[in-house]
Amino acid sequence: MPELPEVETIARGLARNLTGDVIESVWLGSKPEPLKSRPGEIVRALEQARIAGVRRVGKHIVVDLGRPAVASRQKKPKQQAQWIVHLGMTGRLLIANPEHELPKHTHAILRLRSGRELRFVDPRRFGRLAVVRHGFAATGAEPLEVSFDSFAGLFHKRKMPIKSALLNQGLLSGVGNIYADEALFRGGVRPRRRAASLTRSELKGLYDALKEVLREAIAAGGSSVSDYVDANGDAGFFQFQHRVYGREGEPCLVCRTPIKRIVISGRSAHYCPNCQK
Ligand SMILES: [Zn+2]
Repeated sequence: MPELPEVETIARGLARNLTGDVIESVWLGSKPEPLKSRPGEIVRALEQARIAGVRRVGKHIVVDLGRPAVASRQKKPKQQAQWIVHLGMTGRLLIANPEHELPKHTHAILRLRSGRELRFVDPRRFGRLAVVRHGFAATGAEPLEVSFDSFAGLFHKRKMPIKSALLNQGLLSGVGNIYADEALFRGGVRPRRRAASLTRSELKGLYDALKEVLREAIAAGGSSVSDYVDANGDAGFFQFQHRVYGREGEPCLVCRTPIKRIVISGRSAHYCPNCQK
């Protein structure tokens, strides 16, 4: 499942490739699950819109839609819409030439003025496409931008395990299982600790570690994003080195103690029982 760094990398790649292009027409498939807005509404918002930019908000890809300037009698320009894509488990946005064979499970095709197509492909259909007109905002704080004081405030009096708090999208937007485990390892904090029990210096360590792992992961993904958005770009592109995630029973890279795996609220958590307190 794509996490924040993957979504950031994909959004940057799309921004580089698509900004300035115009969506000439839209085809939507017949499966209802991927469409969070009504199909007619999506088509109306996208057709003839100029792609003003693409960015990440939380784990969402936000495509800012502009209108080509027209001399009209309208007193006020209509509020600009945004196309919101959530990739879910298996969703991909592919830039392709029309002659490229259409992959199975294609749910949307945007035909672009440049002659290319932007295709939304999603075998498991947990991804979502929506259109908003009032400005899209994530529910939680943006982990790469939140100040330390705001970050520390998120966990004040929270009895839930710190791992669950990091995953809570109402508190922080876009942190998933892998990077929560990796940040807790680097911060030296056990995943089951109650969030409110962390000292200020532990919170500072965790805050720095979370930003560090996310930035490193974005840097690791950035080099091969073109593979991801190309027509056949289904290869795993992510070269980020996990230190605890998925390494149950393997030696800790710092102290050689075997990495433990536990389950917290139905999600697996990996940690070093020696390095993390
Ligand atoms: Zn260790």
